[in-house]
Amino acid sequence: MSAAQNPTQTYRAITGKARLAGVMGWPVGHSRSPRLHGYWLAQHKIDGAYVPLPVAPENFERALRALPALGFRGANVTLPHKEAALALADSATAEARRIGAANTLVIDEKGRIEARNTDAYGFIESLKEGAPAWRPRNAPAVVIGAGGASRALLVALTDAGLPEIRLVNRTSGRADALAASLGGPIRVMGWSDRAKALDGAGLLVNATTQGMAGQPALELPLDHLPPDAVVNDIVYVPLETPLLAAARRRGNPVVDGLGMLLHQARPGFAAWFGVEPNVTPDLRTYILQQP
Ligand code: NAP
Repeated sequence: MSAAQNPTQTYRAITGKARLAGVMGWPVGHSRSPRLHGYWLAQHKIDGAYVPLPVAPENFERALRALPALGFRGANVTLPHKEAALALADSATAEARRIGAANTLVIDEKGRIEARNTDAYGFIESLKEGAPAWRPRNAPAVVIGAGGASRALLVALTDAGLPEIRLVNRTSGRADALAASLGGPIRVMGWSDRAKALDGAGLLVNATTQGMAGQPALELPLDHLPPDAVVNDIVYVPLETPLLAAARRRGNPVVDGLGMLLHQARPGFAAWFGVEPNVTPDLRTYILQQP
């Protein structure tokens, strides 16, 4: 990427009127959000700043209540505060309530905090971008994993009109509880049946931690997966997980996890800074270069 394509290489001063946002997490040092929002702020020459806000759990409520007092337009919320943010905000979107967690806070001119969740949106936007031929209504999806991220994917896929969502998790009770609380077209299948669950699927999503750097690969033979099924791994470190590499080798269309991370950030940026940002190849390159 040349300097001309990288807007952050030009120093940009902020003024006393700068719009403020940030990310609250514990720890927060690994977050890519400051780099991501910093790129868009520079690209759009916005008088604004997006800062890391390391907030220990015992300080979270005080820190959240301080945001309006400090003039913040809002913030992202990451682990371990996503559930607490939903509970403490003055209001919440229906989607955030269904997902049971907030990742985005938007503060209005009266200082009221609204909790939102943009993970479902980011997941679907990433799929649309990475696999434009995928048609949600045509075939079942298989979701592996029933943790925090899975819940947002299940809400997204239910709303996208999937005829059936097969949910598979190592601990089946967790999948049962998730399916019971969300309802809709979700059908729980056993961990030992996970290879057969791929029969006739149009989409396979890994929402487990397996395949992450430092973790073993997800153990999932792909023989039953139709050749045109889209395979999406929401793990993004590494970008090409063993699952995606195996899917690519057999010719399936693949979508990596970085798209979800980038797209989930767009609605927050638009709400705080007043500009709809785009996800571009240059932005992907810039985020992947994070030291
Ligand atoms: P989580 O709540 O801790 O859930 C972890 C999931 O992984 C559970 O389903 C767990 O199954 C499963 N798992 C763990 N070890 C396993 C093993 N040895 N074999 C089989 N399954 C195993 O985590 P999360 O917050 O949902 O995150 C899951 C992944 O999504 C992480 O890699 C995270 O980085 C990624 N993520 C990506 C994005 C993005 O924007 N791309 C956003 C959020 C999360 P059990 O229930 O049996 O323990």
